[in-house]
Amino acid sequence: MSRGNRPLRLAYGRVNQETNCLVPQATTWADFERVHLLEGAALTHACSPKGDAEVPGMFRRVELRGFCDAVRAEGGAVEAVPLSSAWAIPGGPLHRDCFDRLRDGLTAQLEAARRGGPLDGVYLALHGAMGVQGVRDPETLLIRAATEASGGAPVVTTYDLHANLTQARVQASVASISYKTNPHRDHRARGRQAARVLIETARGRVRPTTAWRSLPMLLGGGTTVDLMPTMLPVFARTRLWERGPVLAASVNMCHPWNSDPELGWSTCVTTHDDQPLAERLADELAELCWARRHVLPPEFLSADDAVDAARDARLARRLGAVVLADASDVVTAGSTGENTALLRALLDRAPTLLSYVPLRDPDAVEALWSRVEGERVDVTVGGRLDPAYNTPLTLSGRVLHKRENPGLRRSVVLAVEGVRVALVEGPAVTLKPDFFTQVGLNPWRADVLVVKNFFPFRLFFAPLARKTLYVKTRGPTDFDAAFAIGFDGPMHPRDPVADWRPADARRRSVPLATFSRP
Ligand SMILES: [Zn+2]
Repeated sequence: MSRGNRPLRLAYGRVNQETNCLVPQATTWADFERVHLLEGAALTHACSPKGDAEVPGMFRRVELRGFCDAVRAEGGAVEAVPLSSAWAIPGGPLHRDCFDRLRDGLTAQLEAARRGGPLDGVYLALHGAMGVQGVRDPETLLIRAATEASGGAPVVTTYDLHANLTQARVQASVASISYKTNPHRDHRARGRQAARVLIETARGRVRPTTAWRSLPMLLGGGTTVDLMPTMLPVFARTRLWERGPVLAASVNMCHPWNSDPELGWSTCVTTHDDQPLAERLADELAELCWARRHVLPPEFLSADDAVDAARDARLARRLGAVVLADASDVVTAGSTGENTALLRALLDRAPTLLSYVPLRDPDAVEALWSRVEGERVDVTVGGRLDPAYNTPLTLSGRVLHKRENPGLRRSVVLAVEGVRVALVEGPAVTLKPDFFTQVGLNPWRADVLVVKNFFPFRLFFAPLARKTLYVKTRGPTDFDAAFAIGFDGPMHPRDPVADWRPADARRRSVPLATFSRP
């Protein structure tokens, strides 16, 4: 279709949730409403230089802002058309109604956008590890819905580094681009990259051709941090290629608690009209990843050993705090945040240390909300949201602080000897020290801070963390918990796998008609 002299019209939107299929609570529409839902003019404003934050309370400038920046740089030659942006905290699979509402909303917004003129492209910022109850590969359904509702416009998608790509997903987009950093710091750069690929595609200056490889590999790459020696050369290679003839080169380390039978690391390379080059480079990246499969994540301490180590780390405690990361109950990987094992160990083995322990328990908050600060109370906490993993614990203590704020909703801090139990109604996202200030605690005074996060917290806690220890308490974010998920064949490191290529060949040869059926 000829555009004449009119500007390119590119629609943009987001659906982001990372699903842990081992967590029993479904994610609902209310979970998106509480965190982030924007559309139309409000989204345009949030992604403009005048906007305070693209995802208020979480991110100031991420993918969609990067996309809009790149569009603005084109002067009036390209118009960015807002759809909607939806983000929920990681958790259980989406309820089917919630997914239908997201997909139908996207469709309706695209149809409305087309009434303003033809669309030349669509950019979708997805997570890549979103699950929906009873639906296989739901993000492919979103891309296909966007393609159809836009009148067949090319769709470019960006993903988290922990995406699980499928053949159907790769084929539904003209380019699939993933973060290159872990902890993730390049959201905005990937949004800009998506805009450039989409603009050049819509102008007919490039013809994206993509190759994809899928590895039967859940874990590897050491800590998977992009700055560490194990993965650094792999990401460096993708950046080098993108300075040359490659439009996009990505490594996806997958979210191991995703229920797709074809789960695994994957690589994806898009070139300008050069399928053999894309195939060769996707293959080369897959080999680089496979060569790192035996560098497994470090073993974590038991709760008792971690508390003993914190107690013995006197100098670290004097100069700052010892941070204990509960790796089995990582809220930002979907867990409930109500594991009591570290709390129990602190009360048993180091009750006089000033320790701050976050715990999500809406029922306990409700029970304590009518009590006054300073009052002595008995309350049972934990083990309600995911009783298969978590054990309730009865506490006898004093109500220290009661607070209310939009993210955590209501919170009650209970003092049990030296331990401060921060009970919250909302998700216990302890990414930054301000979690503790929001509930009424000063993190600089603590001996021990418990967090429910894997890596990103280290950036934010660096000023006060003098020692950081990872702890395995048993929960849905244990790496070996993912071994119980049913896969389509042997899976490294659960099973011996001599070669990644048979699984890759099988996954790439599955007829698309069998994919993605609800
Ligand atoms: Zn991620």
